[in-house]
Amino acid sequence: MTDAALTPDQIQQIRDRVAELMPHVRADLEELVRIPSVSATSFDQSQVARSAEAVAELLRREGLDVEIVVEGGRPAVIGHLDGPEGAPTVTLYAHHDVQPPGDDADWDTPPFEPTERDGRLYGRGAADDKAGVMAHLAALRAHSGALPVGVTVFVEGEEEFGSASLPTILEKHGHKLAADAIVIADSGNWAIGEPALTTTLRGGVRAVVRVETLDHSVHSGMFGGAAPDAVTALIRLLASLHDDAGNVAVQGLDEGTAADLDYDEARFREESGLLDGVELIGSGSILTRLWNKPSITTIGMDVTSVEKASNTLAARAAAKVSMRLAPTQDPQAAFELLRTHLLDHAPWGARVTVDLEEHGSGFAADADGPVYDEARASFADAWGTDPVDMGVGGSIPFISDFVARFPEASIIVTGVEDPDTRAHGANESLHLGEFEKVCVAEAIFLARLGALRPAH
Ligand SMILES: [Zn+2]
Repeated sequence: MTDAALTPDQIQQIRDRVAELMPHVRADLEELVRIPSVSATSFDQSQVARSAEAVAELLRREGLDVEIVVEGGRPAVIGHLDGPEGAPTVTLYAHHDVQPPGDDADWDTPPFEPTERDGRLYGRGAADDKAGVMAHLAALRAHSGALPVGVTVFVEGEEEFGSASLPTILEKHGHKLAADAIVIADSGNWAIGEPALTTTLRGGVRAVVRVETLDHSVHSGMFGGAAPDAVTALIRLLASLHDDAGNVAVQGLDEGTAADLDYDEARFREESGLLDGVELIGSGSILTRLWNKPSITTIGMDVTSVEKASNTLAARAAAKVSMRLAPTQDPQAAFELLRTHLLDHAPWGARVTVDLEEHGSGFAADADGPVYDEARASFADAWGTDPVDMGVGGSIPFISDFVARFPEASIIVTGVEDPDTRAHGANESLHLGEFEKVCVAEAIFLARLGALRPAH
């Protein structure tokens, strides 16, 4: 493809158009937030159907051909509108389901009654991810009647419930979602006024390690001192997973380096609730540790509780270990390295078994090329400052499904969230000023993408 160029006048026109549209976009967002579309099984699933229908109707009004697809899970919405002959194509992803609201008492205003305070719109889904849905609609409306690219909108209905039927949806309907660029609006920006593209996500592995030292539990007075108990052996084994500085000691795992962004220890201490005097673990910049290096956490143990303890050498004990992986790491290979490490470090000849429970791939965007250039330029147009490349320490497992299904597409992860959004928590909110910039950036991106044409 060749260079695209938009004149400053064209960019200003899009900004003005989106500004005009925002009251309507905001009103539609509030209508979506009022539908409690919680995809978790214990909630009323007719509400998820209602929100799918509401999203479908919004897309129909923009002239898209719309269908609601159900492939064994919650309803997803797919809409399509052709662009000019030969124009690039883009698929816009968001999800219309939401997390459970949690305890109403933790919310300052009711979760499904959108409420504005201090420039933020509060409500479950006000950000994650109904604002993602509305950002796509705002971009479409900004080009109403003269769409510069072919657009497919895909709004999933069970992202917050594990996207279980997404592989089937991609298998059966994936041909409708193929595009030159896929914009996944389910992440966020680095800070208010500082746009970001999310270019890496960590992968993960969960495994169970079991340790046995005795045929049966025995009296600690009679046998302690010569026979090892399984709990102590397990603890020594788990301790071998880190070096003294707290770096992961499993050999051979991938690691990388985060972009050089401003994030200091004081902020990390504040956000994580680290107690005074407790040191940070690991080495490298804090963001490198959080985004680009592996981590290992013991997330559960089967041992005798303090309350039920007796003077006994335990014969067996188990722990569940969660690993976060560098974005490029193959999770199956990581599990094998973990397993080998644990077997090699069995203390005192204890019998160790390691079982894989779950694994998921990370994401490392191929963040170069003309589509990424236009995305970055669009963010700069909207914010007046260049976007940064941001990582996320957690996973968005479905993104690897898209990477696998659409290897040719540029996958761009954006979103409406900011550090104060509290997605999934009580008092989730959307910064309305930043939201307008997200809408402007996406509208400009469609225009810039439309100006790209295959090179001759
Ligand atoms: Zn989300």
